[in-house]
Amino acid sequence: MALTLFNTLGRELQPFEPLIPGKASFYGCGPTVYNYAHIGNLRAYVLHDILVRTLRRRGFAVTHVMNITDVGHLSGDNDEGDDKMVRSAEERGKSVLEVADFYTQAFFNDTDRMNISRPTVVCRATEYIPDMIALIKRIEERGFTYFAGGNLYFDISRFPAYGELARLRLDELKTRTGVDENKRNPQDFVLWFTKSKFENQALVWDSPWGRGYPGWHIECSAMSVKCLGETFDIHAGGIDHVPIHHTNEIAQSEAATGKHPWVKYWLHNEFLVLDKGKMSKSAGGFLTLQSLIDAGYAPLDYRYFLLSGHYRSQLQFSYQSLDGARNARKSLLDRIRALAAGFLPSGGDSAGSASAQSKAETYCSAFDKALDDDLSTPRALAELWGLLRDSSVPAEVALATVFNMDQVLGLDLAEAVERHKASGENPEVASEIEALIAERALAKKAKNFVQADSIRQRLREQGIILEDRSAGTTWRRGAV
Ligand code: AMP
Ligand code: ZN
Repeated sequence: MALTLFNTLGRELQPFEPLIPGKASFYGCGPTVYNYAHIGNLRAYVLHDILVRTLRRRGFAVTHVMNITDVGHLSGDNDEGDDKMVRSAEERGKSVLEVADFYTQAFFNDTDRMNISRPTVVCRATEYIPDMIALIKRIEERGFTYFAGGNLYFDISRFPAYGELARLRLDELKTRTGVDENKRNPQDFVLWFTKSKFENQALVWDSPWGRGYPGWHIECSAMSVKCLGETFDIHAGGIDHVPIHHTNEIAQSEAATGKHPWVKYWLHNEFLVLDKGKMSKSAGGFLTLQSLIDAGYAPLDYRYFLLSGHYRSQLQFSYQSLDGARNARKSLLDRIRALAAGFLPSGGDSAGSASAQSKAETYCSAFDKALDDDLSTPRALAELWGLLRDSSVPAEVALATVFNMDQVLGLDLAEAVERHKASGENPEVASEIEALIAERALAKKAKNFVQADSIRQRLREQGIILEDRSAGTTWRRGAV
């Protein structure tokens, strides 16, 4: 079976056939760096990571491009509201670039802790302004723009395929709230703002349309075309991007290049939702990875939680379900460590026997089939568990297969075993220590510092030193 992906364009599962055999070009919309990423945003980047790892496992040479939006993103995707970067800089008493640098670093700190592989190319929007201007010029030369009230707009009526991705019925969508009166059609969007939009705009550049700055949508078109070419294989982002951001990206890219389709496959992740509803960066009060760590969870507990849902289904976040993921990951690690230490009975077949290999291969091929079926991580996890529970597979073969599967899942299983081997610890003892660490984290969360300190003290008496790090608490044996 070939890798099949659900293409939003066409709304169906399609086999992945890249434009250039053996290569896969992929652009994933990156963060707007005016605040920390919230845990919903991280769901989008875990999907990008699983996609890239699966493509690599299938032997494709992947170029993964991600943008960092550090200019031009307004609070409403439809050119309404404040500039997110400018507002954040004003609130924090910093410059826009300082804010952008800080939150870009924070973003990669989060993605590193969650084992999300770094993109091949990271593009900061402010470094691609000449490419944006050049692309806008092409759109203008081909007659898709008009200038009104100091801004250059994309005229959607000149682009008949507008809204194909989102299946928009333009006749039913006559108005959008807060529409700018300069727009000829409510869905028209700004390619270039001049100072007419915001007097306090911090970052402005000269352009043929006046001193100003780019619209948000043009950034992704310009950076992806520059880094991946005028057509490429896959573009991904959250489901919220379908009706405006990606719809506009398609219109302006195809208007500029005359190539259709600009992108072959569009992937969209559904939202992570809280009990109380939508999570939003701008509304404040959102959960970050650090807030989960402070509550006693490891970043990989959250990764496991995300993998247990399919990316096209909405996922409801609650601490109760995160507890479930933490327990499942703990059992997984316990089982793997026990297998590695020879604590579990091993299958009757010898490790090198054909039958042992073929049993493991059955799980492995079911695992690959699950990923090939639109990246079904819940089913892939189920195959991994199936293998671990199958006592007829010899430990050595099971472990090798599990580590191989983990190249996609990214749960650091081999590292977990190595760390324990290095500590020379009996896995049952290690598991008890980790249970106490989790208990201490909960006590800290509940501000029960007496109990937290007493757990630390109990462990210290057994020669175990705890070290609190940003990624969670680690332990080692050491001098008391
Ligand atoms: P932003 O930094 O706001 O541009 O968002 C970064 C990415 O996160 C985009 O792909 C969004 O579509 C996605 N996203 C935003 N909120 C959520 C959420 N609650 N669940 C999943 N993805 C989200
Ligand atoms: Zn984008």
